[in-house]
Order: sequence, then C-alpha cells, then structure tokens
Amino acid sequence: MTDTLTLDDKLQAFVGQSAGPATKGHHPVNEPMIEHWVEAMGDYNPVYVDDQAARAAGFPGVIAPPTMLQAWIMRGLRTSIEADAAREAGTPSTTEPSDQVMELLNEAGFTSVVATNCDQHYERPLVPGDHLSVTSVIDSISGEKQTGLGTGRFLTNRLEYRDQHGDLVATMLFRILKFKPGTGAAAKAPAAAEQPAPRPLRPRPALTQDNAFFFEGAKQHKLLIQRCSACGTLRHPPRPSCAACRSFEWEPLEASGRGTIFSFVVNHYPQVPAFDYPLVVALVELEEGTRLVANVAGITPETAHIGMAVEAGFEDFDDDLSLPVFHPAGAPAGATADETRTN
Ligand SMILES: [Zn+2]
Repeated sequence: MTDTLTLDDKLQAFVGQSAGPATKGHHPVNEPMIEHWVEAMGDYNPVYVDDQAARAAGFPGVIAPPTMLQAWIMRGLRTSIEADAAREAGTPSTTEPSDQVMELLNEAGFTSVVATNCDQHYERPLVPGDHLSVTSVIDSISGEKQTGLGTGRFLTNRLEYRDQHGDLVATMLFRILKFKPGTGAAAKAPAAAEQPAPRPLRPRPALTQDNAFFFEGAKQHKLLIQRCSACGTLRHPPRPSCAACRSFEWEPLEASGRGTIFSFVVNHYPQVPAFDYPLVVALVELEEGTRLVANVAGITPETAHIGMAVEAGFEDFDDDLSLPVFHPAGAPAGATADETRTN
C-alpha cells in the first residue's frame, strides 16, 4: 500500500503538521537592537527611538518596528555554524517534518530553493521586554507548477509569534519554491528561438493588498491615487501608511489623468518581447500633485520633452491587465505604441 503512494500523497500528509519545535528568541525585544535596525533601514519614525514621541503617539513607550518581527527569533551565528557543521558531517541536527518534506523533494529532483514571499499580520506593537517564541506549521504544499525558474512546488509555512504570556502577537505566512534546476525559462529559450513564438503577455504586476485597488481601477479605466484620510496627502506608488502623518486610513481619489512629463527615459535594451522599442517611460506629475511612472504613447524619443502636457488613456493589454498609458494632451487617446513606431 505504502509503495503505491505518489509524491503528492506523501507530501500532503505533512500539511497541518508542526514544522518543528517552538523556538524562543535569544534576547527580549530591546532598544539597542531597535536602534541598529532603524539606522540600517533609514526609518526615522521617532516612535521607535524617542520615548516622549512614542507616548505622544499613544504608545506606552518606544515600540519596535513591526517589520523587525523575525529579528527577535533569529537563531544567531553560533547555532547556524553548528547546524551547518552537523549537516556537513552527515548528522542532521533534527528530523522534523519540515526536514522530511525537504528530503522528499530533494530525492524527487526538486533540489533548488528560493524564498518567494511572506505576509505578516501584527496583533499589537512589540515593546522592549517582550520575549517572543515562534511555532511553525506546514500550511500548504502546492501541486507541481511550471515557473520561470523551473518546475517546482510552493511550500507555505504558517508561523505564530507569541509573547512571554503565550499571547499571540503576530502571524506570518512564509512561502518558498523548491524547483528542479535547469527546467526554467532560460533552459527552454534556445528551443523557443527556433520558431517565432506568439507575442508574450506583458509582465504581471506583483499584486499586494496595498496596490490591488490601483490595478482594479485601471481595469475600469480609472486612474486611482491613494489619499490619506487624515491629512489629505496623496501618495503613489501605493503603500500602507502616510509618510506625512503616519495614518493607515486612506481612500482612493480618481485623478483627472492630466499632467506633465516630470522626467523620462527612453528604453532601448534589454528588449522584452512584450514591449515595443524604443520605449518612452515617463515620470508623470499629475495635476493633483503626485507622480507616477507610466508608458507614453503617441510620441517619439525626439519629440518627448520635460514639461510636456500629457493625458492618461487606458490600454487593455489582455483580459487580466489594463494600464494607464499617457499621450500628448489633445492627441486622441487611442494613440498606441504601434502608431508611435510607424510615425
Ligand atoms: Zn496623512
């Protein structure tokens, strides 16, 4: 019976299992580490370093930057060196379910690994003295997928971070791709070059919960810009909080689409088959006051200039992707990159 189990069956049996034992941070949340982090990241929000500013913002004192979450659980250099040495000596330090999953995939040829994305949710701000532990559960293992890097499977772990009282302070979904080296787009390129392939689709935007509204708006041919609900400041590209007042509250503003070219580049190389070249890419200053990067159609590199008045049109590239494409103000919105090329 066991012999008839497919790789999928064997892998799916691990879903829901603990990936390994709970790990406790070597040190509690502390101000020196916070200061190293904010200096390395250049994030000078005073609530991370100035007790008075933190209290004024409604916190009990300085808080740790939420994105430092993983730093509080790092195993440290010595543990890493010892684990590497044990692996080299052929005596793996653990045989946890996550190690067994890796072994199954390695044996099946999925020997390469790349971290693809992580999604963190914070229950409360962390303050100095909090001492975190983390537990990890194998959340899902995908079927076989063809990716640009190669044929592989996505593994997602769900991590729960708890404080010294056992209360949940944050969760994280962490995803990796285990893939077969040499089976990706690069390996297939020579064969594809022999016969002209259909024109590939434009690259997909990396959608997040912060930027999805922009692309949904584009599908409806609306140019949507984030506006801070607290202070009215516009921001683009989309991000969670306002740089002016730190508020997380925002609403979409439909921009008129009128603006001027603030700066532009003409892209010649490298050439991606989904685009036409030379490709004019502009930083457009909208009349509402914020800027965004977009293609400009209906002009040539010679006629494009800084300060040029432009207007947004929309191009439906395929069923899933519509984007604003600017054109000289007063020119028909339908002017496309193809027309530019033949001008
Ligand atoms: Zn604001």
